[in-house]
Amino acid sequence: MLEKAEKAAASLRTSKGKKEYRHHWLNTIDLYRVIFEAHPTAPEAPAAVQAVARLYQGLHGRSGIAADLDLAVYYFRRLVKTYPTSSLADDSLMAVGDILLNQKHQPELAFLEYEKVVDGYPRGDMYRKAAGQVSRLARHRPAPTACPTPPSAPRNGKMARVTSIRHWTNPDFTRVVVDLDAAVKFTHNTLPPETKDAPPRLCLDLFAASLPTDGERQVSIGDGLVAAARAGQFSRDTVRVVLDLAAPGKSRVFSLSDPFRIVADVYAGEGALQVARDDASPPAPAAPPPTLAQQLGLSIRKVVLDPGHGGHDPGALGVGGLQEKEVALDVARRLRTILTERHGLEVVMTRDSDVFIPLEERTALANTAKADLFLSIHCNASKRKVTRGIETYFLNLASSREAAETAAQENMTSETRIADFERTMVDLFMSMKIDESSRFARMVQEGLARNIRERHPDAVDLGVKQAPFVVLIGAQMPSVLTELSFINHPDEGKLLAQESYRQELAEALAGGVTTYIGSINLISSR
Ligand SMILES: [Zn+2]
Repeated sequence: MLEKAEKAAASLRTSKGKKEYRHHWLNTIDLYRVIFEAHPTAPEAPAAVQAVARLYQGLHGRSGIAADLDLAVYYFRRLVKTYPTSSLADDSLMAVGDILLNQKHQPELAFLEYEKVVDGYPRGDMYRKAAGQVSRLARHRPAPTACPTPPSAPRNGKMARVTSIRHWTNPDFTRVVVDLDAAVKFTHNTLPPETKDAPPRLCLDLFAASLPTDGERQVSIGDGLVAAARAGQFSRDTVRVVLDLAAPGKSRVFSLSDPFRIVADVYAGEGALQVARDDASPPAPAAPPPTLAQQLGLSIRKVVLDPGHGGHDPGALGVGGLQEKEVALDVARRLRTILTERHGLEVVMTRDSDVFIPLEERTALANTAKADLFLSIHCNASKRKVTRGIETYFLNLASSREAAETAAQENMTSETRIADFERTMVDLFMSMKIDESSRFARMVQEGLARNIRERHPDAVDLGVKQAPFVVLIGAQMPSVLTELSFINHPDEGKLLAQESYRQELAEALAGGVTTYIGSINLISSR
């Protein structure tokens, strides 16, 4: 496998023509990715991760697309995180430091990367260079920040109460959400099985917490993956929630705020993006069949559209009292019509009326529907009111201050919380496969921006960005969030109120979605 990847990389290196085409880069990246995704413990895995990072760096040199450089940083960091003892770890830290310093012009952040080399790899071959950078950048040493506030502090002995346990489930995925009336500290562990042949149990301990009534609460789930969730008062101030797994699964546990809740996801087997092309059958040699879905055979047929906000949450407010929730739903409905009637795709809506759906429920619906793509539709708003433009996001740490601001708005939380959230979520992002989502984001963004700019030359293409959007966390399919326009910009807000502009947005989005589907088909048919 490594040989095949290295051959492709060498041919990319030596061919001037190939370098000009994005897909040659991405195809080579895929050959390396397969190695460490399929065999993370193989001896060549760290080198394959490093190769992917360097290829994204090289691709960025050609494309100038910020998301490509962000992916390079992401893979360098992933190498350090996953293979901290590899001889390539310190080189990767240096590479991140150099990108932050020279390309992103963030000397404070670069300093921290060089310092990690000095502290963590004193015997490595990068030590001398890193130490030099640390002393050169000494004046950029970031001021020590206050300790992040712990997610909970029992308020004068007051206990948080578990208010409900919700769940969504299918045989491959279960999401259990524990709602509380205040933030708590918690841990999660696996417990040995109760009987010899059973799989282990997932156990959450919630400190300074109580159940509203005495005794044990049981939620029966019974879908083949998780049999039941049980909550009990484990000790005077600890609530224990146990998920009885019925089959071996992987789990991810994280908390969300405003209101505080703990989310436990259990996946059957490898629970991240399973791209359709992995199991796509070769294309039929006949003439192109009539609809896109048929043409694609079994690859992508079900799309989840997620109109943002709804019910008591209007989303951003625009000129003349226009509400984001209304625009998002209307554009989603128009897009549904195009995708189903013109392209023969199946569309599932997370909401089809003016109702409130929690963010974690939207992703859970997409996963349990076994959708192939997830598109969350929003309008942006800026404090500055002069900001305008179209942008599309995929899930990762925020790529800029503005991206963090947008995520805070969409997550209905503060920017401080976003920073805390990022600290706790780093591991989770590391375990997700973000490449497909970044490609999907790029095609949605290109379709959207190009088509809208044809009719509205003032429209601004803000590009593909990344930020920690709650609604994208845990999605098992390529998933993106698009910000159609700024609802509180005087011109864009007026446009968003018009039916004709909404139809143009829907058409442009459909163009992006079908281009992505077409690209998957191209890859799968090789
Ligand atoms: Zn929104």
